[in-house]
Amino acid sequence: MTTNFLIDSYSEFLPIDGDTSRKSLGEGNTPLVRSTNIGPEIGVPNLYFKLETMNPTGSFKDRGMFLAVAKAVQANSRSVICASTGNTSAAASAYASLHGLKSFVVVPSGKIAMGKLAQASVHGASIIQIRGSFDNALNIVREISDQLQIALVNSVNPFRLEGQKTAAFEVVDALGKAPDILCIPVGNAGNISAYWKGFKEYAAAGRASKTPMMYGFQAQGAAPIVNNKIIENPETIATAIRIGNPASWEKAASARDESGGVIDSVSDDEILHAYRYLASAEGIFCEPASAASVAGLIKTSRLGVDLSGATIVCVITGHGLKDPDTALSVEAVQYEVDPTIEAVGEILSS
Ligand SMILES: *Cc1c(COP(=O)(O)O)cnc(C)c1O
Repeated sequence: MTTNFLIDSYSEFLPIDGDTSRKSLGEGNTPLVRSTNIGPEIGVPNLYFKLETMNPTGSFKDRGMFLAVAKAVQANSRSVICASTGNTSAAASAYASLHGLKSFVVVPSGKIAMGKLAQASVHGASIIQIRGSFDNALNIVREISDQLQIALVNSVNPFRLEGQKTAAFEVVDALGKAPDILCIPVGNAGNISAYWKGFKEYAAAGRASKTPMMYGFQAQGAAPIVNNKIIENPETIATAIRIGNPASWEKAASARDESGGVIDSVSDDEILHAYRYLASAEGIFCEPASAASVAGLIKTSRLGVDLSGATIVCVITGHGLKDPDTALSVEAVQYEVDPTIEAVGEILSS
């Protein structure tokens, strides 16, 4: 049994010392599963999914949040604050509870998936809904955290990326090598930057012989990096990546360029197709934003790129149960009948 998997496994890569709390909710150590059906069907026989859905609050945000909150405690903060499209608020409030801190979350009103709001509620966060975007919320919390000396735990907090880079280590450890390509959704662009940092550090330490190409995917209605301009009113069904002015824009562009990768966009239709495809062909239930990685890979393979010899990892960033509204919008095969063997039998034999 480990007390804190990420610290026990990767302490030499993390900015911790003897005074850093080792409290853990069991973050990290998530499965890397081989694709059974989608990979072979789209011409990528060596396709893997990194199931970040299996983190304690259901998204990769926990990897960085365990450390950001531990560091806030170490700096004697009594409360944390974040702007969020949902998952950051779920993680921040959970880790604040673990450490006995107060949490404040600022979110775009009406744009947070129901499960995520439920998580922040039950963990006791003060939830401040603003009539504006995530980008507005981030500007506000950056200013206020400074004025009121509340620990800011968005990914502009460097400890978030330090924690999140451990996912790259786990991918290399599980494969025994770095993949050729890593596909990942891009919102505020912290995660693609963290993975790239992790892959570079692991290679520099001799734990991998190379680094992968980073393939990032934004939603078409929220694709500032692809279009190289700030999007004032980003729109997409993938609310976790509904961001028009990413905080880690430059880091993500460097990850793309240094790795020889791309940052491209996928439409909401392509995202929803990949979302249903993962659920129906692999048994993987993720939230729409997560499906952008697979939608992007499908788009890439359709462009005629030969991916048959490549080892590819798609990061599945967050759990499908967080967004039941989108799940229920998929037309279900449903019947309502009388409670009799005959009535049910009729359906089974029709
Ligand atoms: C936060 C999040 C993203 C986007 O990650 P960034 O670091 O903001 O680019 C993608 N998917 C899910 C499920 C998320 O919670």
